[in-house]
Amino acid sequence: MTAYIILIVVVAVVLLGVGGTVLLRPRGMHGVRRGRARELDLTGSMPKLDDTSAGTGTATATAPAPPQQRQAPPEPAAPPRPALEKPPPSAGRMIRLRARLARSQSGFGSALLSLLSRDRLDDETWDELEEVLITADVGVTPARQITSDLRTKVKVEGTRSTDEVREMLRTELLAQVETPASRALRTQRHEGRPAVVLVVGVNGTGKTTTCGKLARSLVGDGQTVVLGAADTFRAAAADQLQTWGERVGAQVVRSDKDQADPASVAFDAVSTGIEQEADVVLVDTAGRLHTKNDLMDELGKVKRVIEKRTAVDEVLLVLDATTGQNGLRQARVFAEVVDVTGIVLTKLDGTAKGGIVIAVQREIGVPVKLVGLGEGPDDLAPFDPATFVDAILGG
Ligand code: GDP
Ligand code: GDP
Ligand code: MG
Repeated sequence: MTAYIILIVVVAVVLLGVGGTVLLRPRGMHGVRRGRARELDLTGSMPKLDDTSAGTGTATATAPAPPQQRQAPPEPAAPPRPALEKPPPSAGRMIRLRARLARSQSGFGSALLSLLSRDRLDDETWDELEEVLITADVGVTPARQITSDLRTKVKVEGTRSTDEVREMLRTELLAQVETPASRALRTQRHEGRPAVVLVVGVNGTGKTTTCGKLARSLVGDGQTVVLGAADTFRAAAADQLQTWGERVGAQVVRSDKDQADPASVAFDAVSTGIEQEADVVLVDTAGRLHTKNDLMDELGKVKRVIEKRTAVDEVLLVLDATTGQNGLRQARVFAEVVDVTGIVLTKLDGTAKGGIVIAVQREIGVPVKLVGLGEGPDDLAPFDPATFVDAILGG
């Protein structure tokens, strides 16, 4: 009898021992892996594990149940560093992507051309023309001005051939799209410091994607880039930026804790850029701020803190071109909060009506510097007015 009890106890102890070892071994590895990952990679890109380490001390008590679960999804090996890509330079991109632009204009240019080619241009036709422009997001005031300019020209010049009509419209639209301000991005090192570009805008407009694409394009032009993940609302935002950075060898500075102070991340990113003598630091920010005051507090602080180290050279406002008037409202709020130096219009490849280019430049008084023409890594182009207008007119 006692022998049986002893036997049972021995068997139980052995089982517990084995179970415990099975349970503990993978945890030990996790611990090591996590620790090492932190050291190597300050950016903390490890997939977030639920924090089981706290339970390790008492693990044997619950031995048999969890091991299978723990073992089933083995932690993915640190993703192999992808081979660095060599992105193409930025020159001539808009021409290459022009077909997408033409597609997105869905008839706005051809509607204008066909109206202007009518034999008789009566009041009704001019009203229709103005309507087409307004529907294309040009904005009421510019639409009126374009209409009245064209009306004057037609009166002066009399009869019109198709080519003349096209040329007249092209000249007029170009005049509306062109701005005296330079569209060049200030991304050159100066006074021994990197250029700093702050990227702002409402959530979902394409800020992170734009940072990633811009980093690629700058690398393609031979510059070194540091990315700052100052959107600290969710870890996924930093992961997204990191994926972009890794592909082209741009270092990503991020916080390893959620909800970190964005200003602090921005500060660290700029400091890293200065230490490493990078050409450009691109700082991605969050757009999920509910009130203008929140926005002002956060962006104001980010900018102020960066300026402890060096100047902010560009503040790029990212707008989703498909959001029309709503996008314009957002733009107004941001322009009141920070000194926007350039607009990035994303998703011009979609259902966007190109007139937004005219409206936003006029509204904010700042040029469109870049346009997003797709989700692909190289679908970001320096904005070129002539290419844009020709695409609208389908020529
Ligand atoms: P204020 O809000 O304009 O008064 O600026 P502060 O000097 O209080 O800094 C605000 C935030 O910026 C701090 O909470 C930090 O997150 C960040 N910050 C400022 N200076 C430094 C610095 O030297 N290093 C780091 N990492 N962050 C800083
Ligand atoms: P954020 O919240 O402002 O950082 O926005 P994200 O960069 O995460 O982008 C939101 C979505 O818009 C993503 O699915 C992007 O792929 C998409 N997107 C960004 N730019 C463009 C563009 O130029 N064209 C298209 N079609 N999609 C874009
Ligand atoms: Mg983002």
